Amino acid sequence: MSTVSGNSDRHATRRELLLIPGPVSVDDEVLEALAHPVRAHYGSEWTELYKRVVGNLKTIFRTSGEVHLLFGSGMAGVEMCLGSVLSPGDAVLIASNGLFGDRMGDVARALQLEVVTLKPAPREPITASAVAAELDRHPEVRAVAVVHHETSIGIINEVRGIAALARERGLLTIVDAISSLAGVELEMDAWGIDLCVGVGNKCLGGPIGVAPVAVGPRAMAAVQDGNRKAAGWYLNVATWHHYTELWKGWHPHPVTVPTNVIEAVDVAVGRVLERGLEEHMRRQTAARDTVREGLREMGFEMLVADEVASPVATAVLGMPGMDVVHYLRWLLDEHGMRIGGGFNEFAGRVFRIGHMGRAAQPEVVQAYLSATAEYLEQAGISGGAASR
Ligand SMILES: *Cc1c(COP(=O)(O)O)cnc(C)c1O
Repeated sequence: MSTVSGNSDRHATRRELLLIPGPVSVDDEVLEALAHPVRAHYGSEWTELYKRVVGNLKTIFRTSGEVHLLFGSGMAGVEMCLGSVLSPGDAVLIASNGLFGDRMGDVARALQLEVVTLKPAPREPITASAVAAELDRHPEVRAVAVVHHETSIGIINEVRGIAALARERGLLTIVDAISSLAGVELEMDAWGIDLCVGVGNKCLGGPIGVAPVAVGPRAMAAVQDGNRKAAGWYLNVATWHHYTELWKGWHPHPVTVPTNVIEAVDVAVGRVLERGLEEHMRRQTAARDTVREGLREMGFEMLVADEVASPVATAVLGMPGMDVVHYLRWLLDEHGMRIGGGFNEFAGRVFRIGHMGRAAQPEVVQAYLSATAEYLEQAGISGGAASR
C-alpha cells in the first residue's frame, strides 16, 4: 500500500466512511465516550452502568434470560455459546449458507464437537423444513446452530421456525445474531432461542470490542448439568454466570472489561432505545430499500431474492464488463466510501453494502448512489436491465 500518494494525506485527515457490513462508522457521541478518562472496572457506579447496559440489551434481545458483555469479537461469543453447553464428542447440526456459517463449523470442530453440516443451494436461505429433514437423518444431534443474517451474502435464515422445531425435539438452539441484533426482527424468548450472540459494532452502532451473549433458562440448565463441557475458563458461560452472582454488587464479570468501550456501548444502545427499536430498524430497512431500488434502476442484479434479503446489508452482482475490484477502489479513492467485496465463489463478482450505523443516513445513501452512477458513466458501463 502506498503511503506517499496524495490520497493517503487526505485519508489521514478525513477518515473513510464505512458502508461495509461491519465494522460501521458510528456517531460522534459514541466516539466521545471512547475518549473519556479511563475508569476502573469495578465499584458501585461502574456496576450500575454495566447493569444498565445489560438491561437495555435484554430489551433488544427480547429476553428475560441473562446477558454477558463478553470482551471479545463476535466469534468469541459464538465459541462461548457452543462450548458452554456441549461436551467434546457431542453432535451439533451447523446449517450454513456462507462464510459465517462455515466459521461456526470451524469453531465447533476446534472444540472437538461432532459436526453435522447442512448446506442449502447457493443464494438460498436455510429453512426449518431442511433442518427437520437433516435432524431425521441424525438423531444423535444435541443442538442446532445457525446464523440469523448470513452477512457474506446478505440473506436471512428461518431462525424462528428452526428454533421452534429444535425445541419440539428437545434440542438447544444457538443463534449467531451478530449482524442481525437491532437490525432484523428477533425474539429470543418468544421464538425459543437458547443462546444468542450479538456484537457492539454492527446494527447497534456502538464500538468494536464487546459481544453480548444472551443465555436462556434451558441453556443455563445445560451449562450446569454437571457434565464436563468443551469450553475452557474464559469463553465459558459458567464462569461469567458465577462471577455475575458472586460479585454482583461491585464487579459483575470475571475479568477486567474495556470500560470505555462499554461506556460507548451504553451510549449507542441508549440511542437505539431512545429512537425506539422499531424505528431504528425501519431506518436501516429504508436505506436498504433505497439502495436496492437505486442500483436496480442502474441495471444491477441483486444476489438474493427480495423475500429473503437482509434489511441491513445488500449483496449485488457486478454488471457484465465491470471490474468490481476497481469499482471498490474508485469509491474509496474518489469518494472516501468503503463498501465490501464478495467471498469464496463470489469474490470479484459481488459487492456488498451495509445499511448499519451512519450508512443508514439518507444523505449517505444518496451520496453512495450518485457516486455509483458516476462510476458507471465514466467507465462507460450501461445497465443490463436498462438496455434489455
Ligand atoms: C461480523 C460477523 C461475524 C464475525 O464477527 P467478529 O467480530 O469478526 O468475530 C460473525 N458472524 C456474522 C453473521 C457476522 O456478520
